Amino acid sequence: MHFKPDDTHNPDLQSWVESANDPASDFPIQNLPLCAFEVTHGEGEHRHSHAHPGVAIGDQILDVGMLVESGWMDREAPEDLIDALQQPYWFGIARSPRLVHDLRVVLQRFLAAGAGGGQQIRRLRDKAVRPLAETKLVPPLPIFNYTDFYASVHHATTVGSMFRPDNPLLPNYKHVPIGYHGRASSIVISGTPITRPKGQQSPPDSDPSAGPSFGPCKLLDYELEVGAYIARGNELGEPVPIALAHDHLLGLCLVNDWSARDIQKWEYQPLGPFLAKNFATSISPFIVTMDALRPFRRAAMERPAGDPKPLPYLSDPDDQSHGGFDITLEAFLLTEQMEAKGLPPHRLSKGSFKDMYWTFAQMLTHHASNGCNLQPGDLIASGTVSGHTPDSRGCLLELTWDGTNPDGKPKPRKPIQLPTGETRTFLADGDTVIFKGACEREGWRKVGFGECRGKVRG
Ligand code: CA
Repeated sequence: MHFKPDDTHNPDLQSWVESANDPASDFPIQNLPLCAFEVTHGEGEHRHSHAHPGVAIGDQILDVGMLVESGWMDREAPEDLIDALQQPYWFGIARSPRLVHDLRVVLQRFLAAGAGGGQQIRRLRDKAVRPLAETKLVPPLPIFNYTDFYASVHHATTVGSMFRPDNPLLPNYKHVPIGYHGRASSIVISGTPITRPKGQQSPPDSDPSAGPSFGPCKLLDYELEVGAYIARGNELGEPVPIALAHDHLLGLCLVNDWSARDIQKWEYQPLGPFLAKNFATSISPFIVTMDALRPFRRAAMERPAGDPKPLPYLSDPDDQSHGGFDITLEAFLLTEQMEAKGLPPHRLSKGSFKDMYWTFAQMLTHHASNGCNLQPGDLIASGTVSGHTPDSRGCLLELTWDGTNPDGKPKPRKPIQLPTGETRTFLADGDTVIFKGACEREGWRKVGFGECRGKVRG
């Protein structure tokens, strides 16, 4: 995998899609995140729809499928790229980092300002872009397997301190990337409403003899995470050496791992998360490719003195020097009252992905280290991204935590105050949670992730 920026990251590149040249845009010509959108044909009972591959550019979507069908690609792209684009979604190009890069080069040629061209090319330009706001996006790849990790040491420490104030981190944490198998069928794209789950809850602390109950979740939470799509898979029984792990990653997205804390508390021992987690997981609609992220790579988090070194199968000098990503992540809340009053979403937290204890290459290599076969389109999520400051905590469980009293009992949770005078300890029906993510660095164009949004309904 190449980590160094190249000509495709030149900040002076501009597009004839004017909105892409706005410095505030998430989607300049240097980004070109992969997506898929629904195209409908026919009328009445002959009406049918299918997914087209596209990339975001400014406030538009470029229909990559149309560039192939129009014959433009035949003149401009290498044959193996055209063959790869014949396959559904992005499965064809996901297999090879070179094809992902070739696609980036070819699409920049089509989208670059001042590229000239006759009437035919101008007509194709008009036809091949459509407003993002009027486009129905679908997941960019069908996701067959989903794994959720726990890679933020700050999140693990704060959550651990709620249960073990004197010894918050379990002894395995700094040796083994902790994860569990999630459920792929309930992954939904940004904008999909989230139904409050029902589930079994523990007897109340005040009356343990009352027994457990079943009903709507009372402690509904979000978890702000980053997801990585697997590009190339590995055969069953064949691990992925960490030096090659980066070639198996296609790109990143935002993930909301909705969590029912009361259901979780009762069910998680001894096998871990189950129904508290699998009722819905939201993803942002775009895959920001590893290519687009090159200028924003940085060293993996430096382990504090005294921490163990990762075992050799999880150690790689290139990953140590380039395995981190400086992605600014923000979580916002919009209540129905705020919506009615026309108020903007209220920011709950702001943090960065650069402080993760484990890198995606380490998570991937660990996942495949027993021979488990990862497949193109599988999603691995980072776990809640929390920083070391209270305002960078990536879930309400942490944000409203106020520590423990001297007797070791937790203090009452500290509700979040909203501009309407409303307060929240956990999510209410009608609340919308919005995540945003972006990479910004002096001398480079901003590369954004778009939004991951979901509204809770009862
Ligand atoms: Ca999670």
